[in-house]
Amino acid sequence: MAARIFCIANQKGGVGKTTTTVNLAAGLVAQAQRVLLVDLDPQGNATMGSGVDKRLLAPSVYHVLLGLATVAQARVRSKPGGYDVLGANRELAGAEVELVELQGRETRLKQALQAVAADYDFVLIDCPPALSLLTVNALCAAHGVIIPMQCEYFALEGLADLVNTIKRVHANLNPDLKIIGLLRVMFDPRMTLQQQVSEQLVARFGDKVFGTIIPRNVRLAEAPSYGMPGVTFDRNSKGAQAYLAFGAEMIERVRSL
Ligand code: ATP
Ligand code: MG
Repeated sequence: MAARIFCIANQKGGVGKTTTTVNLAAGLVAQAQRVLLVDLDPQGNATMGSGVDKRLLAPSVYHVLLGLATVAQARVRSKPGGYDVLGANRELAGAEVELVELQGRETRLKQALQAVAADYDFVLIDCPPALSLLTVNALCAAHGVIIPMQCEYFALEGLADLVNTIKRVHANLNPDLKIIGLLRVMFDPRMTLQQQVSEQLVARFGDKVFGTIIPRNVRLAEAPSYGMPGVTFDRNSKGAQAYLAFGAEMIERVRSL
């Protein structure tokens, strides 16, 4: 079976994309899945958060996108995570401009991943906070999109732009693409507003909202500074337990895709 490929996207900054990618990867590994994490953000946070030094990458996802290296050459192991990483660093910021000149600029990542699809059960792509050519590459490569969001008043505002981009890619470039689900993250049940927005989300999007809710949990925020996914840093914390449950929910959803 070839890998199922998912991108974690939301053009809003700081909504929990990277935390979700890293901890879902580790959560899936804990459930005996073979995982490749692709960092498609020049910030390189998913790379560092997996315990891989972004400054020492040679080659990185940048070289893969430009056809200068294969995924097999560029992937490295996250020791604490137990998954492979196709890492990113600042060099990737230049790819945006350089890709424009190239043939099949939207499908470079998709093409590159084909050669390793048999090595994994899941490929997870961490997107930058923009609807850029990098994000379009992720959307072209993926079978589905996972959208992390905070249950705040303006959360729904940006969603329309993201959904339109997904629709455009679906229509023109990737007929396989689906929205797998909206993931409620950094949730604080004591806040009435968050409860209300959460209920609105379910009312509006139904079973496109994942059943698992990720709570706000300081252990998840601390883990990256130790170069570890929260799931391995403190497995018994509420945040880690939630991401383990989310991993199980994803495995279940993939069965019915
Ligand atoms: P960017 O758009 O910059 O890539 P992002 O969407 O990837 O950001 P993260 O980096 O995952 O967002 O999270 C933003 C901040 O919130 C980080 O400091 C992270 O540690 C913290 N954070 C994420 N999820 C949680 C959580 N469930 N509980 C507590 N803190 C969290
Ligand atoms: Mg991020």
